[in-house]
Amino acid sequence: MNGDPSLVVIGAGPAGLALARHYSGPSLILEASHEVGGLCRSIEFGGGVFDVGGHSFHTPHAEVAGFVYKLMRGNWHEQRRDARVWFDGALIPYPFQAHFGALPDAAVVAECRAGSRDGRDEEENLEDWLVARFGAGVARHFLLPYNRKLWAHDLRDIACDWVGERIAGSEGKAARKPLGDGTHVGYPAEGGFGAIFRKIAKGLDIAFGKRVVAVDPEARTLRTADGEERCWSQLVSTMPLTELTRMVGGCPEPVLDAVAGLKHIRLKILHILAAGDPGDAPHRVYIADPAIPPHKVAFNHTASPALRKRPVQAIIAEIAHSPHKKVGDDASLIAGTVDWLASAGFIRRADVIETRAIDVEHGYPLYTHDRRALRDMVRGWLATVGIRSIGRFGAWSYVNSDECIRQGMALAREIAPAPNPA
Ligand SMILES: Cc1cc2nc3c(=O)[nH]c(=O)nc-3n(C[C@H](O)[C@H](O)[C@H](O)COP(=O)(O)OP(=O)(O)OC[C@H]3O[C@@H](n4cnc5c(N)ncnc54)[C@H](O)[C@@H]3O)c2cc1C
Repeated sequence: MNGDPSLVVIGAGPAGLALARHYSGPSLILEASHEVGGLCRSIEFGGGVFDVGGHSFHTPHAEVAGFVYKLMRGNWHEQRRDARVWFDGALIPYPFQAHFGALPDAAVVAECRAGSRDGRDEEENLEDWLVARFGAGVARHFLLPYNRKLWAHDLRDIACDWVGERIAGSEGKAARKPLGDGTHVGYPAEGGFGAIFRKIAKGLDIAFGKRVVAVDPEARTLRTADGEERCWSQLVSTMPLTELTRMVGGCPEPVLDAVAGLKHIRLKILHILAAGDPGDAPHRVYIADPAIPPHKVAFNHTASPALRKRPVQAIIAEIAHSPHKKVGDDASLIAGTVDWLASAGFIRRADVIETRAIDVEHGYPLYTHDRRALRDMVRGWLATVGIRSIGRFGAWSYVNSDECIRQGMALAREIAPAPNPA
């Protein structure tokens, strides 16, 4: 059996790395893969820099901003986010609900304008809320088809306790505001979004290729897939809450039932490397049309001046799926996406150099009406056996890397070992 650092962390994504970086005692991170960054890792091929879905950095948390900006000094680029909506052959600024007036079709504009006077806010499911808040026209033409494409579920099954942080035009009291017209975002000048996390990881004790497969809270041990057993005195997990709980010995039936109720969305991420000048490609394009495979496309070569100077375009397409929304095979998704990129004038078909498809099992946690109660019950039980679970899928919440870093920093303070008496 291996030694006993005071803190063992499962997962070297943003939450686990930030925790270990700020923890004042000895720690060990067990990481299933062979690299750091988790969903924030980057992949480079053929001169193009790709992320697992388009990533950029922005945060309302001063402490997180201070940490990341200091860390990335000399390898950082900030710019005003240029996002657009693709609608019926035209590109208009994002978000649709603020810019539909720029659409060429006067009838659509009139319908959106008429409906948008409703502006109510009290509905209980996403479908009704979108219609009540933005009006039937805006909902019918963009927000309903877009959200159906993204969430891959019936929108009546989705709660609204996240919209104030995510849907422009519904800003709530939470610190995080939705991305909008004037949002400035940051990105490493070189190395992709993952460069942030490779920098945080420097000097930390990380064991790669160590997939945790069993946890015994009574004996305070865990086992990895290669058969190694380790002791822990503090255990923090950032792996998906559902998978963690199922592997913890002695988990009661009601907790396992709660785990079964937590739902998520899978993603197919396409990386398209193309020759040619990026021209005036925006940073992001949002697409509601169900005939076009992705709901969002990131032109990652626009993320920094250094990436723009490269002779290739690095295009990332995000496609959500679930048992309720099946998608085609990789070849058909790539063909459909390249067709759209070419017909919209972003690339020429002949410019495509290489394409890759990545499967992401845990893409977005689904905000079902019982998510919060189920999640709290599961995390509550884990806490009683001495296990903490943080991060995007560790806390089953729709959060970005900055919030995961914040959680790691906060937990490091909370569990800091008591200083030795002098
Ligand atoms: C399409 C998409 C776009 C996004 N865009 C942005 C953006 O623009 N800006 C932003 O800040 N954030 C963005 N995010 C969110 C961001 O990627 C996540 O919030 C963040 O990576 C979550 O960090 P985490 O540490 O909680 O988990 P993860 O990044 O998922 O890391 C968990 C780690 O645990 C490891 N692991 C899993 N199981 C085990 C096991 N059994 N044993 C050992 N290790 C294990 C995994 O290999 C992984 O390395 C986006 C996410 C997606 C999917």
